[in-house]
Amino acid sequence: MIELQKLPFADKALEPFISEETIKYHYYKHHNAYVNKLNDLIEDTKYNEMSLSSIIRDSEGAMFNNAAQVFNHTFYWNSLSPEKLSPSGNLLKKINNDFGSLEALKEEFIKTGSTLFGSGWVWLVREPKGQLKLKQTENAHTPLSSYLVPIFVCDVWEHAYYIDFRNLRPKYLEEFWDHINWDFAEEAFNKTNNHTFIGTEPCNDIHDPFCQVLDEIQDKDRVTS
Ligand code: MN
Repeated sequence: MIELQKLPFADKALEPFISEETIKYHYYKHHNAYVNKLNDLIEDTKYNEMSLSSIIRDSEGAMFNNAAQVFNHTFYWNSLSPEKLSPSGNLLKKINNDFGSLEALKEEFIKTGSTLFGSGWVWLVREPKGQLKLKQTENAHTPLSSYLVPIFVCDVWEHAYYIDFRNLRPKYLEEFWDHINWDFAEEAFNKTNNHTFIGTEPCNDIHDPFCQVLDEIQDKDRVTS
């Protein structure tokens, strides 16, 4: 059984960027519906005792779609901050190294989100060799399937922004940038630092949103550069 993770902030905390009305639909209806549908699908199957990441990697069709959407949304809420934060430390150094500057990453992020056709997600990920990359995934697709480490994610399905921004996705992306939870991103990044590969070990605590990704990182294949 998979549980709906609690929102890491109050329903109105992101206003005016994301309204309470959007939260009512996006979290309490859409995200919750993915959890309920997934639990219907895994009931009385081997998947019922598996971690969310294991279900994602082992399933296809409706089960995959609902499981991936549960993970993607939990990661999205954790990627958001009511206060404006900034990256620092190792993560900022790596951003400067891989993108040139934070401003260059912002520009590429908005371009990547604006050019994704249809519904999907824009991720900052860490590749197996350690490099940071921006990545689009369509519909429910998730970096977990390809063992990329997600650092933060922006939901660019219309249900994420249509109430507050109508069709203005670039404006939503611009404001998302000012609400990135860089503390969460840095936590994710630091857990991957010096590691090059996410292992396939199943996560033991299926209720811990971090556990599903971060505790699977194997202590091997260290990056030397
Ligand atoms: Mn969504």
